[in-house]
Amino acid sequence: MNRPMVPQAVPLLDLAAQNGPLREEVLAAIARVVDSGAFIMGPEVEGFERELAQSLGVKHALGVSSGTDALLVALMALGVGPGDDVVTTPFSFFATAGVVSRLGARPVFVDIERDTFNLAPAAAAAACGPRTKAIIPVHLFGRPATLPMTTVPIIEDSAQSIGSTPLAGRAGCLSFFPSKNLGAFGDAGAVYADDDAFADRVRLLRTHGGRPKYVHHAVGGNFRLDAVQAAVLRVKLPRLAGWTAARRKNADRYRGLLASASGLPAELVIPTDVPAHIYNQFVVRAPRRDDLRAFLTKSGIATEVYYPLPFHQQPCFRELGYADGAFPEAEAAAREALALPIYPEISPAQQEWVVSRIAAFYAGGAA
Ligand SMILES: *Cc1c(COP(=O)(O)O)cnc(C)c1O
Repeated sequence: MNRPMVPQAVPLLDLAAQNGPLREEVLAAIARVVDSGAFIMGPEVEGFERELAQSLGVKHALGVSSGTDALLVALMALGVGPGDDVVTTPFSFFATAGVVSRLGARPVFVDIERDTFNLAPAAAAAACGPRTKAIIPVHLFGRPATLPMTTVPIIEDSAQSIGSTPLAGRAGCLSFFPSKNLGAFGDAGAVYADDDAFADRVRLLRTHGGRPKYVHHAVGGNFRLDAVQAAVLRVKLPRLAGWTAARRKNADRYRGLLASASGLPAELVIPTDVPAHIYNQFVVRAPRRDDLRAFLTKSGIATEVYYPLPFHQQPCFRELGYADGAFPEAEAAAREALALPIYPEISPAQQEWVVSRIAAFYAGGAA
């Protein structure tokens, strides 16, 4: 490749670049909520839910307070509680397993596939027993997971994969945390489903099980989506497809640059493309990962380790009784995975800089 251009800072994510052009539209949307006084539920939330359901190709999309609460209320809608097992991956954001324990159920971990970082589907199906109430596969980093073939209800953790593949499980859960492909201006999430009864149960549980108000059929929670967040998300949703296309293009550019960079170790594994991968993160497996990360930081390049500690090694899950070494692929991923900046607005020059610094690191750290 060409000589590296002028060193430049490369953040992991540049929200100002994304939000700047939307500023007037977003402020107008927020003003609409302020003027209406409808801060809880109301037309903005309903409008967003309608537009989101349409974009996902599902019957029901229900706005909730966060991606975590989307998973929590989805499991509540399945009746998950004490004595139940939920099969899931040991390698994800904490919420995926945390919600299971919060309901008094037991997370049962099954190792990931080496090539995809996702829950191994056949092993997940095989791990189901009479107490298994649900399986939660995660479409990690935006790459669709193959779902297990089973009659056990599947809740898809789509927090990082909005719109990548059609809903195939009982329900899907989205996060609009600002770093996700569709980010709100704060916490927000959604549950989506085709099943009318399931969606109705979520709808009931998200407002303390009250129907009508103050008559409670079930113990739910306050899992509502803010009207202000809904209004912001309505401005951003129509842009999502364009942002996703930009992420995919950026991933292709990284692949091209990395393929033509010289001196990279064979053990540096680049994500192969699958058409539905939407690259919430572009995660490589890197030998000497922590040294590489420190080197890139010194070069002004932000990276992140998703995730440094698998669930079975988390202090709070030690009581589940899994040994170190129980999930070798998850443990290897925790040692080797490194997320490079892949946000839609990153420039080709910035990506060239990232790759040239990776090459410099493996070449021996030359200036
Ligand atoms: C972000 C995320 C969540 C939780 O979403 P929040 O909106 O932060 O509560 C759950 N699962 C995965 C895989 C995530 O990436």
